[in-house]
Amino acid sequence: MALHHLSPTHLVYAMSRENAPALTVRSGDTIEIETADCFENQIQSENQPFVAINWDHVNPATGPIYVEGADPGDLLAVRVERIEPGDHGVMTTGQGMGVFGDELEESTIHLVPIQDGRIEILGQRWPVNPMIGVIGTAPAGVPVANGTPGEHGGNMDCKPITEGATLVLPVNVPGALFALGDLHAAMGDGEVCSTGVEMPGRVTVTLTVLKSADLPTPFLVDDELAVAIVSRLTLDEAAADAARAMAHWLRRKTGVALPEIAMLLSAKGDLRICQVVDPLKTVRMEFKRSWLGELGVDLEAMFT
Ligand code: CA
Ligand code: CA
Repeated sequence: MALHHLSPTHLVYAMSRENAPALTVRSGDTIEIETADCFENQIQSENQPFVAINWDHVNPATGPIYVEGADPGDLLAVRVERIEPGDHGVMTTGQGMGVFGDELEESTIHLVPIQDGRIEILGQRWPVNPMIGVIGTAPAGVPVANGTPGEHGGNMDCKPITEGATLVLPVNVPGALFALGDLHAAMGDGEVCSTGVEMPGRVTVTLTVLKSADLPTPFLVDDELAVAIVSRLTLDEAAADAARAMAHWLRRKTGVALPEIAMLLSAKGDLRICQVVDPLKTVRMEFKRSWLGELGVDLEAMFT
């Protein structure tokens, strides 16, 4: 297993098969990836003019990484080993931004100190929950801007994409062309003001090609949960399709008919909002890993 390093001089603004690889690795390799924040670190002061932000340089992802042996039709397992935050984050609010965008006239910039596992907002210190906002592989067809989530991953802003989790993404093009960015020191489900605590940082991931795993993508597993993640134009569509993605996968894996799977998910599954502020909205369906075992689904075997 090799340890690689990728600096934030290799930035892309869309997930695209045309992006030249910044690094080539083997399946099973571990990479330290340094990222700029979602404003490409343009905001360094609360007093700088909001209008001066160059919007052509937002949501940069570091990469892409070409994974040898990753062929279209395979899956890429991304184990998030570590997220190391920067020393401050940025939040913005303003007209047209997020849920409150029609109530706000002034655009404001807030610098948020990050220290000792805490962020400071309103003079109080709150626990961090570091997570990755943009993470994906190149789509087969037209490029997708990093501000938009989709079946390739992208701007899912999904809170469980954090240390200890493994995110499974599709391989659509040779080498997968994996990239990530848009770290948050903290973000709640919904990301209602349109920013998390946006920070630069360093993420360590291990990338493994899965040749024969049957999983809907994007899919996430952590110590506790199995999670199907879906992004659609509306929350209603995303919610229905996230539940369907989990249900049809469980049906395939267990042989149990849809009505019974539907009852089980209705009784014990949790549908949760990831974000409501991006061009497509993202919802996740969660089901406990331990219950998969009780249904005879061997999740671990899919990762070997
Ligand atoms: Ca985001
Ligand atoms: Ca963000």
